[in-house]
Amino acid sequence: MKVLVINCGSSSLKFQLIDSQSEKCLAKGLCERIGIDGSMITYAPEGGDKEKTLTPMSDHTEAIRLVLEALTNPATGVVKNLDEIGAVGHRVVHGGEKFAESVIIDEEVLAAIRECSDLAPLHNPANLIGIDACRKLMPSTPMAAVFDTAFHQTMPEEAYMYGLPYEYYQKYKIRRYGFHGTSHSYVSKRAAEVLGKSYEDLKIIVCHLGNGASVSAVKNGRCVDTSMGLTPLEGLIMGTRSGDIDPAIIEFLAHKEGKDIDQIMNVLNKKSGVLGLSDNLSSDFRDLEDGYHAGNVHAVRTLKTFCYRVAKYVGAYTAAMNGVDVICFTAGVGENAGIVRTFVCEYLGYLGVELDQEANGRRGEDIVISTPDSRTTVMVIPTNEELAIARETVRLL
Ligand code: AMP
Repeated sequence: MKVLVINCGSSSLKFQLIDSQSEKCLAKGLCERIGIDGSMITYAPEGGDKEKTLTPMSDHTEAIRLVLEALTNPATGVVKNLDEIGAVGHRVVHGGEKFAESVIIDEEVLAAIRECSDLAPLHNPANLIGIDACRKLMPSTPMAAVFDTAFHQTMPEEAYMYGLPYEYYQKYKIRRYGFHGTSHSYVSKRAAEVLGKSYEDLKIIVCHLGNGASVSAVKNGRCVDTSMGLTPLEGLIMGTRSGDIDPAIIEFLAHKEGKDIDQIMNVLNKKSGVLGLSDNLSSDFRDLEDGYHAGNVHAVRTLKTFCYRVAKYVGAYTAAMNGVDVICFTAGVGENAGIVRTFVCEYLGYLGVELDQEANGRRGEDIVISTPDSRTTVMVIPTNEELAIARETVRLL
């Protein structure tokens, strides 16, 4: 079956068409600046050239219509007609406590996703618009919702509760949820598969280090902790997000800088992280790595602080699971920045970690990067959230 995977943001939409049998991506692309001047669709059939077309897109329905047109285009399309698309899998950011698994979308599910919008006001409404637009254009095609939070719903209470008045949990469901669940699930399962070991017998720590970054602890096939919280702001230092800070800093800054809550949240989400810490050198680790080698003090400080925080979470999750068998690195930074893996692993001598520097220099494959003598196995597993969403969609059907 061919599955269309849709990841819808407020003004953008990423898509992939995946053949579920071969698990190959047949075509992929991106619509940008939806509803804004200068909208553009990028479309790339597998093995073909990438095309970028500037074209007006007043809303998400129009964007999806253009995506379907590109996929069925007689010259560069990859399907003859829409009947060839057997299902659509939608990434949905927040499933609250309602969804511990992916589901087939119906009216009840849509209402529940809408209810979770309070918890993810920037993301869930955009996801709903994408679902709505697809349902308008493909009314008889089954659709699934795959939640970023679902994999983490197995966390025990002591991992997901904050030290806040309990009434806020009862009234507003304020608790830790975690995100990137599709990636943490895919990577931890894949690690077990590559090692030829049973998923249910392993203690795995996944470091998903991308522009957004999170760590998870997966014990015997179930997530027991993860570093993001009620929102994706908690945990690691990220591209532009601060991660963990003393909450009193918010009040302190409000007074000193004369900023209101919205302005401070904008600083914490958009101007902090490695971008802010590097004194605006860059949020991109390629620039930080170059800066580090050139001896730039901002790059040195930022890389060291970022890696120290990752290593602290690895330590915490080793404690949470009473040990660790496998540590996996994934996502843009985790898969590509060997220097980050090296710096993190330098803290892990107590776990008997020894890196194989030749393997650590390779890219683009599922690979063990620790030596055969290393007491803990360290791996790089390229994440593939789209494939995981396609698999979930087919499983549900
Ligand atoms: P993601 O959010 O997973 O797409 O990751 C995006 C981030 O990965 C970028 O912002 C970069 O910081 C980082 N990245 C991508 N390619 C490389 C590379 N070759 N070396 C180091 N970092 C990279």
